Amino acid sequence: MQQPPESVPRWRRALIRLRMWFDTDATPVPDRLAHRIDWLRVAPFVAMHLACLGVIWVGTSAVALAVALALYALRMFAITGFYHRYFSHRAFKTSRPVRFAFALVGAACVQRGPLWWAAHHRYHHWHADTERDPHSPAVHGFLWSHAGWFLTPAAFGTDLVRLPDLRHCPELRWLDRYDTVIPVVLALLLYGCGVVLQHDFPRLGTSGPQLLVWGFFISTVVLFHATVTINSLAHRFGRRRFDTQDQSRNNFWLALLTFGEGWHNNHHFYPGSARQGFRWWELDLTWYGLKFLAALGLIWDLKPVPAWVHRKTGH
Ligand SMILES: [Zn+2]
Ligand SMILES: [Zn+2]
Repeated sequence: MQQPPESVPRWRRALIRLRMWFDTDATPVPDRLAHRIDWLRVAPFVAMHLACLGVIWVGTSAVALAVALALYALRMFAITGFYHRYFSHRAFKTSRPVRFAFALVGAACVQRGPLWWAAHHRYHHWHADTERDPHSPAVHGFLWSHAGWFLTPAAFGTDLVRLPDLRHCPELRWLDRYDTVIPVVLALLLYGCGVVLQHDFPRLGTSGPQLLVWGFFISTVVLFHATVTINSLAHRFGRRRFDTQDQSRNNFWLALLTFGEGWHNNHHFYPGSARQGFRWWELDLTWYGLKFLAALGLIWDLKPVPAWVHRKTGH
């Protein structure tokens, strides 16, 4: 990690921050600014939101909506099943190629690389709703927990000390370092598909810009805000089945939106299981998806909810 002293001219510091758009290996801003939003560094994140307004010009079509929805579902599963339950909690086992395949899908979510995500998430569990939790709504307020904390230099780096089990994998390190590559590839693919469809199947009413706006910008922004409700809303609204040390809640609506992550109080009580809905009626789409992958032999050793935890749910 690079930490240029404050004597470095402003223009050079700005250049380094721009470089971080493409190569995240440097964290150049001095400590005194560590907890302030670095607007230059996060300009692409802001631009992604603004780009959704492009819908005014590109219009909509059934194909564009279907692509946006499918990409939401596939990428949400990669986040919940792999970024969260596999990389952060090691709740099951898999092979290196399958792990990498889902890491690629996860990287297409524009939520940084799998190592960055897992390192911060593990830290959240260790310090949930204390001063050291990077995104506690109880400590830092709702907005900061939802979409503020990761826009600051303090959160840009990946603390590999938290990932002794993953930090030696070169392919994951690469994905983490160049975390804009996969999103850019996805955006280009969508644009290209739209151009081809417009040319070959004009009756579908789609185009390159339309698939880009719906399939990439809108789908990604909605996916992002749905994901981070677990940091903000799921620590504030819902039922507390278990008297955990944090403020985590079980919330059906958030579980629906995030494919099972809304059973967040369950999860904080017992983070090690591959399943987060502890009762049969606690809808956990990720769990069903993981069972499906297990049936195909792609993943195995899914960690169950132990009997003693089941008993506490009144089962
Ligand atoms: Zn939490
Ligand atoms: Zn977790």
